[in-house]
Amino acid sequence: MKDLKLVKKLDSDVKTKQELILIAGPCTIESEESLELIAKEVKNAGATMLRGGAFKPRTSPYDFQGLGLEGLKILNKVGKKVGLPVVSEVVDAKDLEHFLELVDVIQVGSRNVQNFSLLKELGRVKKPVLLKRGASSTYKEWLSSAEYIMLEGNPNIILCERGIRSFEDYTRNVLDIGAVPVMKELTHLPIIVDPSHGTGKSSLVLPMSLAAIASGADGIMVEVHPCPDKASCDAKQSITPKEFTLLSERIKRLSTCL
Ligand code: PEP
Ligand code: MN
Repeated sequence: MKDLKLVKKLDSDVKTKQELILIAGPCTIESEESLELIAKEVKNAGATMLRGGAFKPRTSPYDFQGLGLEGLKILNKVGKKVGLPVVSEVVDAKDLEHFLELVDVIQVGSRNVQNFSLLKELGRVKKPVLLKRGASSTYKEWLSSAEYIMLEGNPNIILCERGIRSFEDYTRNVLDIGAVPVMKELTHLPIIVDPSHGTGKSSLVLPMSLAAIASGADGIMVEVHPCPDKASCDAKQSITPKEFTLLSERIKRLSTCL
C-alpha cells in the first residue's frame, strides 16, 4: 500500500511458529482481591498476559470510569505476584509516565486509534504497543496508525482486530476475521483478535476464538470475570475462568493442527 513504508511485509520474514499470545483478564480492574483471583485462574489455564482496564474510555460519562492510577498499581502488583506480564489501555498521553513504570504492554483502544499525538508519543517509548483497530477503520487507516508509531522509532506493535461497525446489531460489532490473513499479507506485525468486544456476547467468544486461530492469528485477548453478571463493565461479553480454561485448551489443540 502506498504511504506505508515501515509496516510492509518483510522479504526476510521467515515464518517461525511462535507461542500463542493469550491475553485474559477483566474489562476493568475492580479490586486487588478480584483481580488476583482472576489472574491465578487464567495463569493456570495458560494465559500468557494479564489484561485489566484502569482508565476506561466509556461511552457514557455516567458509567464507571475505572480506578485510574490505583488500578494500574493493582495490575502491576498482581501481575508480579502471579508471574504474568500486564497490559492496560492508555487514553491520555499525560498518564504515560505511569504506564511506563507499571505495565509491560501499552494498549491503544479503538477510540484512540487515530489520536495521532498519542501515537507519536508512543513511538518514542520503549514498550510494546497493542494497537486496536478502530470501529470504523479501514485496513489502511489502521496500518497508518501503526506507521505513526514506528516512524517515531518504536517497532514493537501488536495489531488487534476487535470488530467493526456495520448494519448488523445482533452482535456488538462485526468481528472481521478476514483482517487476520489480510494483515499477514500486508505486514510483518503480529495480529491478535479480541472476540469479546468483537461480538459483545459471551456465548460467541469461544467459537470466534477458534475462528481467529484457524485464520492464522498470533493469539487472542478475552475478557474474564468470576461472576460476569456482576462485572462493572462489559458483563455480557465476559466469560468465567472455567470457560476460559476450556477455550485455552481448545485453541491450543487447534493451533497444533495448523
Ligand atoms: C478494551 O479492550 O478494554 C476496550 C475498551 O476495547 P476497544 O477499544 O476495542 O473497545
Ligand atoms: Mn471491555
